[in-house]
Amino acid sequence: MEPFPEVENVCAVAIDLADYSDLRTANVYAVGSGPMTLIDAAPKFPGSFEILKIQLEQAGRSLSDIERIIFTHGHVDHFGLAALIREEVGHPIPCFIHTEDAWRVTAEIYHEEMFDEAGERLMALVDMPPDEVAKIQERFSLFAMLCDPVFDVKMMEDGDVFEGEDYALRVIHTPGHTPGTCCLYETSQKVLFSGDHIIGHITPNPLFELRKDTLRNPDYLSLKEYIRSLEKVKDMDVRYVFPGHGQYVEDLPDLVESYRWHHRERMDRIWTALNKKSRPLYHIIDEVFDFVPEYDGFLAISEIMVHLELLIEEGQAELADPGPPAYYRAIRRDR
Ligand SMILES: [Zn+2]
Repeated sequence: MEPFPEVENVCAVAIDLADYSDLRTANVYAVGSGPMTLIDAAPKFPGSFEILKIQLEQAGRSLSDIERIIFTHGHVDHFGLAALIREEVGHPIPCFIHTEDAWRVTAEIYHEEMFDEAGERLMALVDMPPDEVAKIQERFSLFAMLCDPVFDVKMMEDGDVFEGEDYALRVIHTPGHTPGTCCLYETSQKVLFSGDHIIGHITPNPLFELRKDTLRNPDYLSLKEYIRSLEKVKDMDVRYVFPGHGQYVEDLPDLVESYRWHHRERMDRIWTALNKKSRPLYHIIDEVFDFVPEYDGFLAISEIMVHLELLIEEGQAELADPGPPAYYRAIRRDR
């Protein structure tokens, strides 16, 4: 991976995830040369806390310089180490997250309800075989081990600005990957910290909301929100995008264009599969994806769901039989 470009007042720490995930790295950014803001807090892997500490020290900084931590969203790989950092410095550094994602960083969810009845109901709807469901459950319970919960998060909203001695970070609410996903824009250096909204080497997943029924807005369509959020950042005056995973990005408009193309193509594949034969969604996975790692069954279903939601909204597909398992069919485009 190419090293991050030098940006005044920004220290990038990339924690290697190559052995665990195609995300390549979990990136943490320290902004500010005196008191600093930490953007995201990496998953709690064996050794990840030490790597973060040492890399900051090598850059002449220290955990005790952190005046706040901002989570771009509420996934374990972005807040996992926050509790340990607070413990190490000996005081509760304020942690911020968008209101919509705040529930994700609390104990109850991550340690008990990661894959609750809502998950099982969804798997029955898509006709996922029991042994595959067991694999997904196992993977979800692993996630719970990659973080310590943060009980007392503070809320942030679109437009909030966090000011430091020599920096300012503006919150840009970019729902899609999760409903509370935010980017942070450093106004003087023109750096966009994009979390999982923009990633250079893979297309970010607008995730299907498993707990949709318990969310405030049941009409939230992940992919639709995601595409809208791409528009929100596409034409910004950005010198570098510093993402939550992998390498930095220079050409934001080009990348956004390639995402759009990618999602259109995926929607087409789903439409074509359902047009061939109305089926529960588990049975179209092989036609939609060229390759799915066996542990990624949930992600595959999630991707299909969010694209299908949009096809339905556009009048190109419909529910044929509510099941379970549910059957969907394509609506002929020439009709
Ligand atoms: Zn992530």
